[in-house]
Amino acid sequence: MQLFKNLFSRPLSIQLTVTSSNGFHLRPVAQFVNEAKSFECSVEATFHGKTVDAKKVNTLLSLSLEKEDTFTLTIQGKEAEKALKVLQTRFNTLMQDDKEVVAIEKESASYDGEVLDGDIISKGVAIASTYLYKTEEIQHNNTLSFNAAITQTRKALETQGTDIALAQKALLVSLEEKSNSLETLEQNIHKEIEALQGTKLFAKSVDYQDILQQVKKALGLEVKITFPSEKFILLADDLLPSEIAMLANNTEVQGVILKETSINSHTAILLRASGIASLIADTSKIPLDREILLDSFAGLVVLTPSSDDIEKAKALQEKTNVQKAHSASKRFDTVLTPSGKQIKVLANVGDIQSAKIAKDEGAEGIGLLRTEFLFKSVKPSLQAQTDALKEIFSTFDDITVRTLDVGGDKALPYIDIPLESNPFLGLRGVRLFRTHPEILSEQLHAIFVASKGKRIKIMFPMVSNVDEFRKAKSFAQEVAKTHTIDIRNIDFGIMIEVPSVLFLIEAFNEVVDFYSIGTNDLTQYLFAIERTHPLLKVDELSPVVFSALETVVKQATKPVSICGELAANTDAIEKLINLGLTTLSVSPKSVAQTKETIRHV
Ligand code: PEP
Ligand code: MG
Repeated sequence: MQLFKNLFSRPLSIQLTVTSSNGFHLRPVAQFVNEAKSFECSVEATFHGKTVDAKKVNTLLSLSLEKEDTFTLTIQGKEAEKALKVLQTRFNTLMQDDKEVVAIEKESASYDGEVLDGDIISKGVAIASTYLYKTEEIQHNNTLSFNAAITQTRKALETQGTDIALAQKALLVSLEEKSNSLETLEQNIHKEIEALQGTKLFAKSVDYQDILQQVKKALGLEVKITFPSEKFILLADDLLPSEIAMLANNTEVQGVILKETSINSHTAILLRASGIASLIADTSKIPLDREILLDSFAGLVVLTPSSDDIEKAKALQEKTNVQKAHSASKRFDTVLTPSGKQIKVLANVGDIQSAKIAKDEGAEGIGLLRTEFLFKSVKPSLQAQTDALKEIFSTFDDITVRTLDVGGDKALPYIDIPLESNPFLGLRGVRLFRTHPEILSEQLHAIFVASKGKRIKIMFPMVSNVDEFRKAKSFAQEVAKTHTIDIRNIDFGIMIEVPSVLFLIEAFNEVVDFYSIGTNDLTQYLFAIERTHPLLKVDELSPVVFSALETVVKQATKPVSICGELAANTDAIEKLINLGLTTLSVSPKSVAQTKETIRHV
């Protein structure tokens, strides 16, 4: 009976709108497909009359979805209802997290020599001879079959584990099904690249070429790039993402000028991450093997630099190096405002990798550990949770961990929340204590065991009244009692992200040990604008937000910190400090910059 019900169940569908100006491109598509595959149901996407399997990377990509395109997701089968909910929230989060680089602002500069204009990929200054990208193919002895070469390439990408490598792996998996030899793989890749011609997603074609090159290499056909032994500025149509690390670590490269990439391509992302001065410009207009000047602060190539131009560029280079060294060397220092007030800069982290980055970037502790994405696909065992938390807790002395904040824009496949018309106003955060006590109980148990002997803070998300906090804290105390764990090392507090709390601070002062203001949600609820909404956007710098913060800081008698995105906004930091906030928790990569901003408020 059940089988018939599933077979003939009506399809569910939903409209999704692409909000990232990068389009629905390879990395988010790969993550979306991964999620879609975990459900027992069919998932299809329809756009402009074309319907494709949304459980396959290449077919979903073939829709070439760009910003503001709305497509229909149709789901049918046993887990359709659950899949619809999870995929909708996953899509929204992917769109929101897909930070777009619109255009990097150019600084003004004037040079005597003839200049060529370009688009900035990565800022810097380089003075060196140009060198044209060259490759040669070398055939080594090959012992692998085509299938074994594919498996080896897939495993290598998996081991690298970066978002880009995993996205390439997903592409390879989708090509694998229809390719049974190097020849057919090559043909399929050419077809995919052809289909991308003229679309905004053309920059993705290097990912296809990269895969082909890696499979060829596994088959003994190495494509070797040759570089000069002295300093050079590389000119190329485009580079493969896998070539950037080698270029940055094993050569004397000073700068890179590419003709055909886009500022959001994987190649561009990796060039920025490696800090190589890089520009997009018409390389055919640049002389070969001649000394040029690349000023990618100004988005310029000086083709015929005068001696004055060279002097000017050298001075800029020197200044940049000193500045970089200065903020990097000071990132571990405690930070004081010019008037001598000490401000603590902590980090918002989600796993051990981000905690380690935070440490490396100079964070003084963890101001928000988002536990919901510590285990994204399967429900962890108590032991797995305890081990992961213990490792993260060991990175800093100052730790604030948040209990599961699932619901709204965040979903986990193993936490079943009924379909709601307004998920942001429904079961999320601390409200899960009512509906999923066993999951929270296990999480608290893991936190207690992992924090044994260490002072830590636990905070509850989405608290809207005092009773909710009291119940959550008593629940935690019961868990400790059941497992006979002493939790006197733990402080309990709340996230301030629901506006009702603004009117209850006096009552909360009686029960909480601390507050952490989550401006991301607080702003969405103050303005009644969903934080993932494709069209509506709130101004996070609105005086309304600062007035809410002032209310909290003035009335709170317990320590207050801020962990929303606003804490890293360079236009907000001075105001936050003037309001009296002394602890800011920001994303790991924003720590050094936030500290530098504080030093100059
Ligand atoms: C917030 O709401 O400001 C916050 C920090 O929490 P999250 O972004 O995880 O909801
Ligand atoms: Mg929040």
